[in-house]
Amino acid sequence: MRKETVRMMKLTGCKKKTAAAAGMVLLAASLLLGGCQTRHKRIEIGTSSAGSTGSAAPGDALSAGGSPVIGSPQQGTIDIDTAYPQEKEDPAGTAGESASVPEETTAPQEESTAGGDPSPVFENRDETVYVTASVLNVRASYSTSSRVMGTLNRGDSVRRVAYSTEWSRIVYGDGEYYAATEYLSAEQPETQSSPAAAEETAAADESTAANQSAAGTSSGTISLNPDWEYADFSKVHSGSATLYRSEAAERKGFTVCVNAGHGTKGGSSEQTLSHPDGSPKVTGGTNAAGAVYSSAISTGMTFSDGTAEAEVTLALALKLKTKLLAAGYDVLMIRESSDVQLDNIARTVIANQNADCHIALHWDSSTRDKGAFYMTSPDAGGYRDMEPVKSHWQQHHALGESLIAGLKNAGVKIFSDGTMDMDLTQTSYSTIPSVDIELGDKVSDHSDSALDTLAAGLLDGINTFFGQ
Ligand SMILES: [Zn+2]
Repeated sequence: MRKETVRMMKLTGCKKKTAAAAGMVLLAASLLLGGCQTRHKRIEIGTSSAGSTGSAAPGDALSAGGSPVIGSPQQGTIDIDTAYPQEKEDPAGTAGESASVPEETTAPQEESTAGGDPSPVFENRDETVYVTASVLNVRASYSTSSRVMGTLNRGDSVRRVAYSTEWSRIVYGDGEYYAATEYLSAEQPETQSSPAAAEETAAADESTAANQSAAGTSSGTISLNPDWEYADFSKVHSGSATLYRSEAAERKGFTVCVNAGHGTKGGSSEQTLSHPDGSPKVTGGTNAAGAVYSSAISTGMTFSDGTAEAEVTLALALKLKTKLLAAGYDVLMIRESSDVQLDNIARTVIANQNADCHIALHWDSSTRDKGAFYMTSPDAGGYRDMEPVKSHWQQHHALGESLIAGLKNAGVKIFSDGTMDMDLTQTSYSTIPSVDIELGDKVSDHSDSALDTLAAGLLDGINTFFGQ
């Protein structure tokens, strides 16, 4: 695999995005859970997280009333779970989180797992329910000490297949897991968009413990809206991105889409049109030149030390998110865990509609520590004459130049002049300044401190791009 790095992100063109912040965010109703591939419907909701539908959950602060998740969604989790499969999970891992979630702790475990707690009496159900907590844990079993399989956000919809007063069994991903019944409602929670919402979040909670100090509030998830320009070209879009609003004293008024490259299980087996007009790729990369169809999203390379690229792009994305929120930018996070079911086109379209710039993070597959560079739009084969590239490629380059300058200022090694021509899906569908930036390659240092340096350089570049 050659430089597949490049190809990951594809952007699509869209209309111009409005200023970030204030816009209404479309929440998708959930698909997260059921893994369905169909499109979901979205509801427009305000950016804030308010909406509490009542549950004043004792357990987790986060959940109640739209609490904000500061920094990361994980914090406020609410657990749900069941003992279902009896997995013995490591207490350690979950311990921290569960700690903040009091009540459910008492949940019984089924199947006589330990201790003889009575198992909950479940009634079969087949219904759609919505998450009312800002962040709700999805657990392997019906006990807060069981493993957290993932999290859901307010407004997400899931299919409930069994109900008990404390725990509900829900379809999540390709399995059935548990969530606290208290935070699931047959009615979709409202989310108002009052600017003040951000403050509420502050109160949110202790759950923040685990989190980073990033000052930001989750405004909810954003799924691909089928009405958005180029949305129809996506093949994998059952996942959703998360928008965070900065709580910094001085907000910038810009939303930066941080796209951790790769991390879409099964995405490489799907194919999407390389270009919206059906023309073939003008350069080779992960997909060959001449390819009318390209992999919907590739798996990514593996560093020489065995670390998956997707893991490192995620680590950097999380660091960049923290810095951006602290600096006053709102942040649209495409992926915050090992997998999000959004292909390159879906990521690009979501960014087009909800952010002011799109930065896809990647590492190249070469093995010579060649340095950082960004992918430029080839001046070949009529690529720059094709929309939306024609109207936006110069913006992409301006963003890329700013990022490279920022990285250079931070002491990061730069490859050649910091550019490489590449016909990428991301670029082919982007309608906002959009860049696939390669931070190094298979043998580059990707230690925590190296990633801190990269994040600082990227922030510097973003500030320059927005004139901050
Ligand atoms: Zn990559």
